[in-house]
Amino acid sequence: MSDKSLACETLLKEAAALIGGDSPRLDAGLLLGSVTGWSRTTFRAWPEREVDVTLVTRFSTLVEQRCEGHPVAHLLGEQEFWSLPLKVNPFTLIPRPDTECLVEAALALDLPPNASVLDLGTGTGAIALALASERPGWQVSACDAIPAGVDLATDNATRLGLPVTVEHSNWFADLPPAVFDLIVSNPPYIAGDDVHLGQGDVRFEPASALVAGGDGLDDIRRIVAEAPGWLAGGGWLILEHGYEQGEAVRRLYTDAGFASVETGQDYGGRDRLTLGRKHD
Ligand code: GLN
Repeated sequence: MSDKSLACETLLKEAAALIGGDSPRLDAGLLLGSVTGWSRTTFRAWPEREVDVTLVTRFSTLVEQRCEGHPVAHLLGEQEFWSLPLKVNPFTLIPRPDTECLVEAALALDLPPNASVLDLGTGTGAIALALASERPGWQVSACDAIPAGVDLATDNATRLGLPVTVEHSNWFADLPPAVFDLIVSNPPYIAGDDVHLGQGDVRFEPASALVAGGDGLDDIRRIVAEAPGWLAGGGWLILEHGYEQGEAVRRLYTDAGFASVETGQDYGGRDRLTLGRKHD
């Protein structure tokens, strides 16, 4: 890439051609925006606006990293989820748009105004924070097995001024005794031998957030089996899972005694989450 002052449009074109992939122009715009502090509207309205040489150098470095496959969210240090700007880092999963479907499913439930809610394996805190932002009366807590996840979610809660408490716990193992009206989780659910793990942005995300043992269902199996011990009568469990896992996850729920078991779809219309209700 160039190392002299250049117009935005020239830089964006050059960068997009190098980046390729699904959204090269968007990626380039986000990266140039983070370096210049200018919005993508500015780039459109004022394409000839000159970018100073020092900023061009910084932008070129980011573009090179993007070309190596580093996710844009890691390069920006931030990812939006449910309209909340969340800090991200390489120790946890980058929140995915499809996980907003899980948030929608949770908000559609008929829960008490002061419901107690737990987000297992919260990572950035995305699900817990989205729920707390929508339902100020809910008592939302979260946990993560990775200390860096606990710190990140806590930091995001503080920045957003949302009252979510985050514990260090490997699923339910280290939680203080409690009873919840709703338990949610986006656990790892990809089988270790899945070819997608070696491709694209996920190569830069931690296996701990993506990969579960055996068929990818080991963590889900454990959560479904243990959840009834932590749910109030009539309480709900909602889990995200792979698009081919709906039937298997429904069976796990039914075997664990859940009622009203149902699978919901993601924005692409594929099975992505399953919910069920503990008997009263
Ligand atoms: N949906 C994510 C992906 O396809 C995986 C999320 C997860 O493992 N919890 O990359």
